[in-house]
Amino acid sequence: MDNNILEIKDLNVIYKTKTSILGSQKIVHAVNNVSLDIKKGEILAIAGESGCGKSTLAKAIMQLVDVQSGKIILENQNILELKKREDLKKFYQKVQIIFQNPYSSLNPKMKIGQILKEPLEINTKLSKAEIEKIIKDKITKVGLDKNCLKLYPHEFSGGQRQRIAIARSLILDPEFIIADEPVSALDVSIQAQIINLLKQLKEDENLTFLFISHDLSVIKYISDRIAIMYLGEIVEIGKTEEIFSDPKHPYTKALLSSVPELNSSKNKEKIQLKGELPSPENIPSGCKFHTRCPYVMKECNETSPKEIEFTSTHKCKCFLYN
Ligand code: SF4
Repeated sequence: MDNNILEIKDLNVIYKTKTSILGSQKIVHAVNNVSLDIKKGEILAIAGESGCGKSTLAKAIMQLVDVQSGKIILENQNILELKKREDLKKFYQKVQIIFQNPYSSLNPKMKIGQILKEPLEINTKLSKAEIEKIIKDKITKVGLDKNCLKLYPHEFSGGQRQRIAIARSLILDPEFIIADEPVSALDVSIQAQIINLLKQLKEDENLTFLFISHDLSVIKYISDRIAIMYLGEIVEIGKTEEIFSDPKHPYTKALLSSVPELNSSKNKEKIQLKGELPSPENIPSGCKFHTRCPYVMKECNETSPKEIEFTSTHKCKCFLYN
């Protein structure tokens, strides 16, 4: 597996829309032939507009949506083939997720202590005293006082609730955490605190992160590598410095152009993103970006571009480089 903690191979997730009154049903390709390696100890960010498939990819890894085809390999095992309850339990001990909205991801009827205790009671045979010790340790690690264990989620601010959600994700000592837009529901002033906390935890707890966000400033600060996603496909991937200093795909360039502080250099090519993301029910043929691309050529609407390798780490799919 070559230092990879997780390998995704040719993953496809398809949704079917509800049947209309006329009896028609549409197929939505939410994740389209995605292959991705996530290396132990790194923060790999997935960037792209809302609706590009980032969160569906996260849910597919967590087995929260049905996968049409492909493999997700963790420690030489295709996790999509796990059927036994015991095997799935082991998987969820190793892989955890932090959701975007700390208001809805915590059960409002449970005290924080109960929320943190539950996974340990279900998944381990630890004694009461051992469980108490772990809970206190994790809540302190995320910067909260252990007195908060007696309180309910509504007694906390948004930032504090996200800290509690992070503590819950750490409770079983996972190796890999998916953070799905973990700061986008928070005030800007709180976002930096949570991002710094995740960075610190990555070092202290020896974690690997898949970090999903539409915010490139946050991604630039936190990630080691970035995959750019458009309509269910990875169109460019590279180290963070490669993507920011030398973006290749017109879509990546357009995303960077949309954030003025990331695109201040006079020499950097600026591309204005035109129009809306096409609906996943009506995915364009050929290169899926061709309906919005300023460099569109004849072949772009007929054939899908193959991946071009610029360095061993920097790759993109675009006919401009053939
Ligand atoms: Fe634009 Fe064509 Fe490249 Fe797609 S393949 S990004 S349409 S130039």
